[in-house]
Amino acid sequence: MTEKVFDVVVVGSCMTDLVSKAPRLPKAGETIHGHKFFIGFGGKGANQCIQAARLGVKTAMVCKVGKDFFGDNYIQNFKDNGVHTEFVKQSSDAVTGAASITVDDAGENAIVIVAGANMLLGAEELQEALPAISHTKVLVCQLEISPQTSLQAMCMARDNKVKTIFNPAPAIPDLDPDFYRVSDVFCCNESEAELLTGTSVASVEEAHRAGQKLLKRGCGSVIVTLGPQGCVVLKGGEPTLKHVPAPEVTAVDTTGAGDSFIGALAFYMANHPHMPLEEMARRANLVAGVSVREIGTQTSFPYRRDLPNEYF
Ligand code: ATP
Repeated sequence: MTEKVFDVVVVGSCMTDLVSKAPRLPKAGETIHGHKFFIGFGGKGANQCIQAARLGVKTAMVCKVGKDFFGDNYIQNFKDNGVHTEFVKQSSDAVTGAASITVDDAGENAIVIVAGANMLLGAEELQEALPAISHTKVLVCQLEISPQTSLQAMCMARDNKVKTIFNPAPAIPDLDPDFYRVSDVFCCNESEAELLTGTSVASVEEAHRAGQKLLKRGCGSVIVTLGPQGCVVLKGGEPTLKHVPAPEVTAVDTTGAGDSFIGALAFYMANHPHMPLEEMARRANLVAGVSVREIGTQTSFPYRRDLPNEYF
């Protein structure tokens, strides 16, 4: 087995966003005229991988797309962003994951997601990607693919002393407790923290309390992101409240901000393994804070060249 050395490997999802803007959302059975249409690249896994790659680390994506136009297009998108695509597999048995999104003039939306090929990523593909998963500095997983596949990838990484970031998104109520055990950093947003702990998370103090509950389940550290309020960071053995505020910015579109944050966190964990987690979170806040100033998901994620030197 030839080893493949990467800084960040992401095992996760790819989705093509098909976005229509219309004066209002159509009713059942109705056809209406929209005034704008665009295709965007999304999926939490791919978003996080692309943000890390844009900051300048060697990344590989492990995922599955369909043998179709959207799959071909997504592979080209990874290549355009410098992501290694050997472990991006194409299947004829399912379509590339897609989200059909209609947004009305008031910003209200209706979304249908078809996970497609994302759900076919499994043990066989992980085994093929083992040379990359076992030699990377950081592995990142989420829950937009089969949870079993995510957990297996995290276990493979941990067995090889690779650092792991787990983003339990979209959250599921009965998360396998092993996910906590294999997470060096367990990073979730407010609503995911609420669902996983059954407590309200609407303030820094509540996020801290929820974070303590999550920490007790066995992960190394917990980060709860709080939108414009930044995040809280909790480390095992350090009971003090660490709130890391976000910079004040004029937010235009926060879609994908959480993925920009996690991609940046993976970048810092790979590039500065001895940096305190709180400082990594402060810098990830800065990167995600840039992403909310532009419309779109990946289109809003900054490149290394867009950021001041002190971010690196
Ligand atoms: P999304 O689902 O929109 O991708 P999320 O809910 O997973 O995002 P958030 O907690 O909303 O994640 O945001 C992640 C990070 O992005 C925050 O910790 C912060 O650093 C940054 N961020 C988000 N919204 C803002 C904002 N309005 N101003 C400044 N920073 C922001």
